[in-house]
Amino acid sequence: MNYDKDLICENITVDAEGKLLFAGQDTTELARIYETPVYLMDEDYIRKQCRAFKKALEDSFGEDCMVLYASKAASFIKIYEIIAEEGLGTDVVSCGEICTAKKAAFPMEKAFFHSNNKTDRDIAYAMDNGVGYFVTDNEEELFAIEKEASKRGIKQKILLRITPGIDPHTFKAVRTGCVDSKFGSAIETGQAEEITKKALDCEHVELMGFHCHIGSQIEETEIYVRTAEIMLDFIADIRRKTGYETKVLDLGGGFFARYTSEQPVRTPWDYLPNLGEYINASIERLGIPKPMVCIEPGRSIVAEAGMTLYTVGTIKKIPGYKNYVSVDGGMPDNIRFALYGSPYTILPANKMNDISETMTADVVGRCCESGDIIQPNVELPSSMKRGDILACLSTGAYHYSMANNYNRIPRPPVVMLQAGRAYVAVRRETEKDICALDI
Ligand SMILES: *Cc1c(COP(=O)(O)O)cnc(C)c1O
Repeated sequence: MNYDKDLICENITVDAEGKLLFAGQDTTELARIYETPVYLMDEDYIRKQCRAFKKALEDSFGEDCMVLYASKAASFIKIYEIIAEEGLGTDVVSCGEICTAKKAAFPMEKAFFHSNNKTDRDIAYAMDNGVGYFVTDNEEELFAIEKEASKRGIKQKILLRITPGIDPHTFKAVRTGCVDSKFGSAIETGQAEEITKKALDCEHVELMGFHCHIGSQIEETEIYVRTAEIMLDFIADIRRKTGYETKVLDLGGGFFARYTSEQPVRTPWDYLPNLGEYINASIERLGIPKPMVCIEPGRSIVAEAGMTLYTVGTIKKIPGYKNYVSVDGGMPDNIRFALYGSPYTILPANKMNDISETMTADVVGRCCESGDIIQPNVELPSSMKRGDILACLSTGAYHYSMANNYNRIPRPPVVMLQAGRAYVAVRRETEKDICALDI
């Protein structure tokens, strides 16, 4: 077994002794110092991705554009600080994310508030905290925002979330751009036009433009061009009917990140120059003013910046059936195989050169739940034993942010790696934390 092909991102290497390195640092040593399970995050890679998206967007659309980091992918104070330093805006979807961004002194005028069901409390909280834009999902919400803004005597900037009716052929559970989605108002049904007219009639909201988000893990770069086509036709149509000139066009996130060696490599340059060319040409053809273009990458900024380390516990070999390698984490820190059947690359961090004999095993967690599988059918050295370290790659997005306390298991810490040093950004939860809310 040779793992060369599984070193799927440039920040993953192996040293002469067969130790897996992440961001140039020995993962076996990091596991010893910080204990396991542990989330590692490569800060330099996060910054590199921010800069790449920013540069590619600016080169494609000029200065008047904005990259928003979709912070639900990974939300903690340090990440908002990094994003702010890199000059990006951010998406937030809850009071918890707003509060975390505020604690990081994030410039809230560059925060865009999403979610398909903002409660009255959410709306008030976001206004209290100076959130720049409300991405308004539906009519009921529009009126709730109008009401709260009116009470405060302010004019709240909003975008309307539009459903362009695109099926990006990704996994069903992460598909949101179709007409029957729970998100947004569809163009096809006429509801998008209707809500636009109502927003224009509201005294206390300022309609800045339109938003759409067609799904996640989008491999096919042309889909963004198709989406832009539908959105620009809609914008032109609205202008003809109402005279309204769109100032902001936000095309959402969904850019691809790599989990296994079978998957392709995608960079911002695969999506944005094409899109820029198409939008610039269409604006001329349709005779509409050029809007500020926003994109909202989440996963693609942080996924490959992350790695989870586990310590191997029980190894169970059921002759003629199956092998199980159990680790000291599982669905509390990585629920994505259970939720979506997501593929992962799992590597034997302290045995990368142990390529003699291998076995196939399901890598499973420690929860009382047979669906608690991190990845089935993983090729591992037959010499695997209790105490070895396993690394699960590309866990920077939707892992810490989806972490839970099932079986009352404390959540792992987030350890940042930066230029050869390591530091804790989020500490490990303790059993005391677990009981802290019980009265
Ligand atoms: C989740 C989400 C994103 C980010 O999606 P990724 O696949 O992580 O890039 C962007 N915008 C909206 C509205 C989202 O819900």
